[in-house]
Amino acid sequence: MSNADWMQRDLAHVWHPCTQMHDHEHLPLIPIRSAQGLWLHDFEGRRYLDAISSWWVNIFGHGHPDINAALKAQIDELSHIMIAGFTHAPLVELSERLVALAPAGLQRCFYADNGAAAVEVALKMSQHAWRNQGREQKHRFLSLRHAYHGETLGALGVTDIPLFSSTYAPLLQASLRVDGPDCRGLPVAQWEAHCRQAFVRMEQALAEHADELAAVIIEPLVQGAAGMLMYHPVYLQLLRAACDRHQVHLICDEIAVGFGRTGTFFACEQAQISPDFLCLSKALTAGYLPMSVVMVQESIYQLFYDRYETLKGFLHSHSYTGNALAARAALASLDLFSSMDILARNRRQAARMAAHGKQLSSSPHVHQLRQCGMILAFELVDAEQKAYDWRQRRGLLLHRAARERELLVRPIGDTVYIMPPYIVEDDDIDRIFAVLETSVAIACAGQRSDGADTSIALP
Ligand SMILES: *Cc1c(COP(=O)(O)O)cnc(C)c1O
Repeated sequence: MSNADWMQRDLAHVWHPCTQMHDHEHLPLIPIRSAQGLWLHDFEGRRYLDAISSWWVNIFGHGHPDINAALKAQIDELSHIMIAGFTHAPLVELSERLVALAPAGLQRCFYADNGAAAVEVALKMSQHAWRNQGREQKHRFLSLRHAYHGETLGALGVTDIPLFSSTYAPLLQASLRVDGPDCRGLPVAQWEAHCRQAFVRMEQALAEHADELAAVIIEPLVQGAAGMLMYHPVYLQLLRAACDRHQVHLICDEIAVGFGRTGTFFACEQAQISPDFLCLSKALTAGYLPMSVVMVQESIYQLFYDRYETLKGFLHSHSYTGNALAARAALASLDLFSSMDILARNRRQAARMAAHGKQLSSSPHVHQLRQCGMILAFELVDAEQKAYDWRQRRGLLLHRAARERELLVRPIGDTVYIMPPYIVEDDDIDRIFAVLETSVAIACAGQRSDGADTSIALP
């Protein structure tokens, strides 16, 4: 069967996520037969270098032999059981390992099966913890402008990306919003001062609303889905201190940035803070199986522990909570962090990305190039360094030019980013940037107003 055959069968029945399905009238789907390491292989012998870790999850690439072996062994032992009233070795071991890695006090692990569900859990737990202390009025949340925390209704209420949320406004309990510390376009030397200045708005909001606020939720260091908006760790330090002062929980959503992506194992380590809740998913199982976890401070856990009152307990559940195969994949992934000394390796590869980035910045179409560990992003602009009219869809043109050259990138609007798997080698990085350079030139060449490409490039 050819790519076209699979595409035709797919489009007869499959409804794809984050897609205006009509776009596939002119942008073909890519059916993938297999994937190994960095490469996805289609049904006609073409291949694509996965420079975005398949939506930020496959941190060790595809089909890693160690994770494959661990899963094969696990599947003959135990694949899934309910974990209300039961437990199993992979879950106990994973919880021990995560607690040992996490910032101080995050000693309790509550599992779910995707990122948005983890956010829902953290929001519910925060409100419930205040309620258990007799402070029912603390039930609102505060999030940053352009925040992304997932797309189920509760998570969408703290998400601030109109593309995803505006349609569903009548269904949402929108959170309070504060303009964030976006440092795009500033030299790195000015990031700290800018973030201190930006924090004034957060401080004001906390002072004004502390009585009704349960928690602030934030993506540490990088607001991913908004277009890789980056900021200095001092903002998190100030936020931790202010949340303590105003008695508001701090939820760090490290679903995108956890597990080594920003240079440290968890991004909040760079601010030397410990949140009340830490949400993890995406890279947790190295892109093998859906799983998420909310790590919680012991002192908060204790607020739910009660001899007499069932309803003081956290009764939330999902059928696939604590899946044994997912937990085993997560353990195998954690093993690779130590056996490959991933944080040191990432520092070297990030430096190589930075050197290429510097060179790429000499293109008049590459603006606001920025980097945080293994995330590098820039804006596509016209020759006068002005943003393109979004209807020109330069990001989509770049996506197409890159995939014709064996590179998978998926710009967010006109924000181009790479977030490669950690197994990326020197020559892979060289290849990624060579293709990016060509693709930028193609995407930005000439005027495009023919309206033939009606799709918006989505995250
Ligand atoms: C992806 C993401 C989520 C949602 O995770 P899903 O598994 O896609 O539901 C939440 N928060 C952040 C920061 C994310 O990047």
